[in-house]
Amino acid sequence: MNLKRISINTALPLQPKGRILIVYTGGTFGMTYDAEGVLIPFDFSLILEHLPTLKNFGLELTVVSFETPIDSSNISPAHWQVLGRIIEDHHETHDGFVVLHGTDTMAYTASALSFMLDGLRKPVIFTGAQLPISEPRSDARENLITALEIASAKKNGVPLVPEVCIYFDYELLRGNRSKKVESMQFDAFDSGNYPPLAKAGVKIDYNFSVIRAAMPQTKLKLRSKFDTNIAILKLFPGIGLHTIQAILQTPRIRAVILETYGSGNAPTDTVLISAIRDAVNNGVIVMNISQCPGGMVIQGRYETSKELLRAGVLSGADMTTEAAVTKLMLLLGEYDSHQAKELVVKSLAGELTA
Ligand code: ASP
Repeated sequence: MNLKRISINTALPLQPKGRILIVYTGGTFGMTYDAEGVLIPFDFSLILEHLPTLKNFGLELTVVSFETPIDSSNISPAHWQVLGRIIEDHHETHDGFVVLHGTDTMAYTASALSFMLDGLRKPVIFTGAQLPISEPRSDARENLITALEIASAKKNGVPLVPEVCIYFDYELLRGNRSKKVESMQFDAFDSGNYPPLAKAGVKIDYNFSVIRAAMPQTKLKLRSKFDTNIAILKLFPGIGLHTIQAILQTPRIRAVILETYGSGNAPTDTVLISAIRDAVNNGVIVMNISQCPGGMVIQGRYETSKELLRAGVLSGADMTTEAAVTKLMLLLGEYDSHQAKELVVKSLAGELTA
């Protein structure tokens, strides 16, 4: 993929207070109107025209942009590999990272990066906007400014938030706990099972008790092989057996996320349960993730989940579907099914409550 690179030093003639790498992937954030009134991606080198206040930050900004910015509905593991490599290449030279990304799949990309960047010691802050930066009422300006502030925040030389996060609408959320929950209002993201890592008001209030600590001596290791042979089977009352079987017996399928009700419940229909048991016996990882955005899967709590447990379905605890999808694809790309099965139920990047 072709990338464009520009440098903007907002500190001159003074020394910059920090070095931040911005990756611009596309999305609503960077849209502007052309001469005919059509929305097109803006040229990032003009950021200071849209955001003159950036000059007060005193930062050295390196901007790497996708040559053709994309709507995030077109994101794929190939883009995640590019993002992972950019962060790996600049991890030692930069203080933090801000990734500008469309909101639609931001929670997937942030989750994927949290698993890919093993040993991360710097903040990776995803943000975007619901209204393009060219609109007077746009949320793009505040989102970017605060994301930069968080990405460069340090205490005694140590980054305050050394993890992959989403900053949006005055809240900093753990990336692999987040979901897009709103497409019209500005509060686009929520993390129902984990408290915000920070809230931005007059001051930015960090909740240090829920922020992951970095291991100071660890070296960043990028994991970037994905196997996309997975599926989501979302239950609904009346779902047909042939649909369930078609998904569970998809050629080359290696994992199925079973999206269940409440605390992990499913119909007790013996035909359904035996279809699941057959898949598990054939080596398919079946993992139970709740359709509820809050709470967790507890298999065996109700009669309607006991059979899943007996059939060999793994509990996804309180993981989001976004985290489960990206984690499974990465684990199946990097390890064999046996190792992937052991790792998927463990917390690798703070994505589940063990
Ligand atoms: N469709 C856009 C995208 O995800 C929406 C946005 O950026 O908010 O790229």
